[in-house]
Amino acid sequence: MSCNVMFRTTLFLMLICLVCQMPAQAQADKGELQLTLRVNSSNNEVRSVLEIWQNYLASRPDSLYDNPYWTPEEKDADKEFDLTRTWVFFAPDIFQYFTPTVLSVEAESPDLYSIRTLFHGLNAADGVLLPMALHRVYARRNENGEWRLSSALPHLTADWQRRSIGRISFVYPPTHTFDKELARRANDYCNKVRRKFDLQDPGHIYFYICDSKDELARILGLDYYIRPVHGLVYERNGILLSGLGSEFYPHELVHVLFREFSDTHRFLHEGVATWLGGSLRESLDELVLQFAASLEDGGSFSFKRMLNNVAEESTTYYTVGGMLCREAYRRGGNVLLKRLLRAPAEEEEMLQRIEAVFDVPQSEFEALVVSLLPESVVTSIE
Ligand SMILES: [Zn+2]
Repeated sequence: MSCNVMFRTTLFLMLICLVCQMPAQAQADKGELQLTLRVNSSNNEVRSVLEIWQNYLASRPDSLYDNPYWTPEEKDADKEFDLTRTWVFFAPDIFQYFTPTVLSVEAESPDLYSIRTLFHGLNAADGVLLPMALHRVYARRNENGEWRLSSALPHLTADWQRRSIGRISFVYPPTHTFDKELARRANDYCNKVRRKFDLQDPGHIYFYICDSKDELARILGLDYYIRPVHGLVYERNGILLSGLGSEFYPHELVHVLFREFSDTHRFLHEGVATWLGGSLRESLDELVLQFAASLEDGGSFSFKRMLNNVAEESTTYYTVGGMLCREAYRRGGNVLLKRLLRAPAEEEEMLQRIEAVFDVPQSEFEALVVSLLPESVVTSIE
């Protein structure tokens, strides 16, 4: 999975269903903080740190702009500075659903504090607390004595190893044994894909190797998250994170390489990454065979249902997206593939683009997809 701005609506709806069945109380609508007993708010430093955190939460943290409460050195053009933005602050009204409760504000050094906050919903039936994220951010005091927030990533990976191969800088924990061959393979893969599809220079890539999806989330500042992912890119920052413990993660590398098309609909964005890079160590061919087997077993496929139920039908979503990207390239090479990938993010316009690229009305999308399955499978379904 790659998660970014365009995915936030889907993520929002999914999370509301997962962890929150009733709106949070009105007092928390603006992100007003609740504190646990561990937070010593009688301490002047702690109060100052809480104030900057409160101000940040009230300053539209879902928006990417020159936020005055964040460390200036971490803000650069339109890059993401709060790497938890798309995970936690994915919509302007999240505080209607998720209450922030500060669990601790503690000194790491005189000028550096960590802030841990639980964002949680409530179960409508019994009022049981349903956590969405245990969030960590840092507050650093600058030379003027002002506190500014700082992302967890540089703090939590300060003692990690770093090694560069070509255009990729690998960043990994001291416990990881660096695999130079896989690292070379990743760099060669980038060069090959970029040449084949005539893509813009993706710039330097910072590739963080984590042993698990929880470790991936943790270094971003999420000590717990309701639905962590195995892979993630921040295209604008050139950051790629792998939760599979490997130097080679083609799916996420494709996301970085195709970042000039990152404004397209998620379905196509994931489609091209799945076509070229597979998904969770399975190739598109393997995924297509599994999809075909499910249809042969009597399973049904609806294009609209797939788009509207991404969480439940994610494998189909990735597979069908991959099939359409591959077919566009087969029919019309780079020109037709890029025409498809330049489809707008809005769903209806994206569907119209698929209609135009394949010259097929929406009512026949299911038939189009079935026609792209291996011939023996198509015959058995008919
Ligand atoms: Zn992806």
